[in-house]
Amino acid sequence: MPGKPEPVLGGPASVVETACPLDCPDSCSLAVTVKHGKVIDIDGSAKNPVTNSFICAKVRKFDQLAYGPDRLMYPAVRKGRKGEGKFKRVSWDHALELVVEKMRDAKARSGGAAILPYSYGGSNGLMTQDNFDAQVWRRFGTSRLARTVCAAPTGAANMALYGKMASVTYQDYVDAKLLVLWGVNPAVTSIHLVPYIKDAQARGAELVVVDPRATQQARAADIHLPIRPGTDVAVAMAIHRYLFVNGFADETFLREHTIGADRLRERAEPWTIERAAAVAGVDAAALEQVARLYAETSPALIRCGWGLERNRNGGNAAMAVLSLPAVGGKFGVRGGGYAMSNSASWKIERSWIGTNEPGTRVVNMNHLGRALLDYNDPPVDVLFVYNANPVATVPDQHRIVRGLERENLFTVVFEQVMNDTALYADVVLPATTFLEGYDFAKAYGPLHMTLARPVIDAVGEARSNADVFGELAARLGLLSDEEPTGELDLLVTMLDAMPGRIGEDLRADVPPTAPGGNRPVQFVDVFPNTPDQKVNLFPAEYEAEAPMGLYTFQPDPATEKYPLALISPSSERTINSTLGQLPRPDVTLVMHPDDASARGLADGDLVRIFNDLGEVHCYLQVLATIRPGTVSLPKGLWRRSTRNGVTGTALVPDTLTDLAGGACFNDARVQVASLATA
Ligand code: SF4
Repeated sequence: MPGKPEPVLGGPASVVETACPLDCPDSCSLAVTVKHGKVIDIDGSAKNPVTNSFICAKVRKFDQLAYGPDRLMYPAVRKGRKGEGKFKRVSWDHALELVVEKMRDAKARSGGAAILPYSYGGSNGLMTQDNFDAQVWRRFGTSRLARTVCAAPTGAANMALYGKMASVTYQDYVDAKLLVLWGVNPAVTSIHLVPYIKDAQARGAELVVVDPRATQQARAADIHLPIRPGTDVAVAMAIHRYLFVNGFADETFLREHTIGADRLRERAEPWTIERAAAVAGVDAAALEQVARLYAETSPALIRCGWGLERNRNGGNAAMAVLSLPAVGGKFGVRGGGYAMSNSASWKIERSWIGTNEPGTRVVNMNHLGRALLDYNDPPVDVLFVYNANPVATVPDQHRIVRGLERENLFTVVFEQVMNDTALYADVVLPATTFLEGYDFAKAYGPLHMTLARPVIDAVGEARSNADVFGELAARLGLLSDEEPTGELDLLVTMLDAMPGRIGEDLRADVPPTAPGGNRPVQFVDVFPNTPDQKVNLFPAEYEAEAPMGLYTFQPDPATEKYPLALISPSSERTINSTLGQLPRPDVTLVMHPDDASARGLADGDLVRIFNDLGEVHCYLQVLATIRPGTVSLPKGLWRRSTRNGVTGTALVPDTLTDLAGGACFNDARVQVASLATA
């Protein structure tokens, strides 16, 4: 079923410019060397000054995905057991007709909600999601997906507080005198930020890193707060209290630009430095030093990452961290304020979809296993997965697999490679990669956007999302004659619909300018996109939504049986689970020496990591760079990466964050034991 790599012939090579649209804030400009229609090298180009001609090791290897043995080359239908990976080649016509038939049957039997579309940011370009796919789902009246596996709590906090105001871009970090990297590891997830941080430090900026691990960045910091996972809200509230109590709150700014400051002040009151330090398991003097530095320094910039949201307190943590610049009066200067996802800063409204969302059932994507096994109103009869690999990336892996094994479930997986989820498909449809089609690569760290162009023809019979969903819409009778249906139609439609000059500039290969400028100073060039343009520090709807109210802390879920917090940070090998099929050294669980010796474990031991949801077998790496009581497995592992074909998401409960229904990856509590003595 998967394709075989073909040899590259000799002869002249050419270098083609494109851009990387994968789920990474940097969106690099790329120079791809092509010979006889085959990619032979992928590198960064100088076209985008932030890229500055270098890229990550991950995308340098992307040709191994494009031509690798796991690449899906043609449509196919299952011929073995679900999960066995045996498929029979069929034509596109046959595969699409089968999908149409199953969708129609399910709708006739139980209504459109019996079909569950399931997608996330696997490709992340503007053309590969929320376009013709959304049109099909909306018009057919399928269940709707709450896309919450990542960035839901931080996005909700950013929206409530600031209406997703554009935030500080990489180029302006150098103007900061204090940088706080909170729950983010740029050396792995946004490598082009690292030189700007170093530059700022060289100019005298102090660096604070909040992370349970002593990452390379943390070791280069002036202060590292190795907090317990899930305690970010306590730490941020203690800094709020320090600001309020010691006269550092910017009362003028609070009066003129915010609402709800008094309620936030009340909630901060119990969080003394000592109490927060005890909850977070850090040195109180170090926490007080961070609070004082933040109070006294300007420009001060907080880079809010996604590590802090992946627990029961994630929404309130994001609220507490992102509201600090408002209380501390850190806006209005270059290099001051906050940096968060800038994905909303281009103000692109997807008007071309042309159909409003129906009022059908909403399924939280973190509850996929429950949806497949337990939902009855109606049951999910057809699952259509694209741009996502939920078996590898979504909480409660075993429950998801049990759901996918249901014989009366019809699963379509539209993918580039035979991943852990595609193995359970009834029909696989091969998708193009970003090297094989057009897309818009929109950075969400710095502010730039590039038109990514095809550098090679589609591999095998792979087709683009726009082509496949356009065709599906036509076969389902959902399109009128004059509506666009394919990739090139969509490209032109989107270019025409971009606000201001953006479409025109992209056509002319000129770097476009975002509506607030490409290096906006917060509260000078851009302001909150809230209805009254004020920072809403105490949104009433969130007070009602959070189980214990806004800015509150829910205690650690650890038990005597499962005392260790398992975290799953991004690694230098995968982008989410993309590229997880490539060969890698044995996966290791990282554990502090104190925890290892308490269990009689040594570096290199084969261990089982377990809780009531499952167990993972892999080797142990004993390192003092992780705080005691916390262990770490890489994010995005494929099941082939461990000794027993089970990965960390099997140990993650499908509980939801306090706000916005996010995933609680870092609330997995586990025990670890030697496999030899098990
Ligand atoms: S994944 Fe990020 S760093 Fe790597 S090439 Fe793409 S945009 Fe650049």
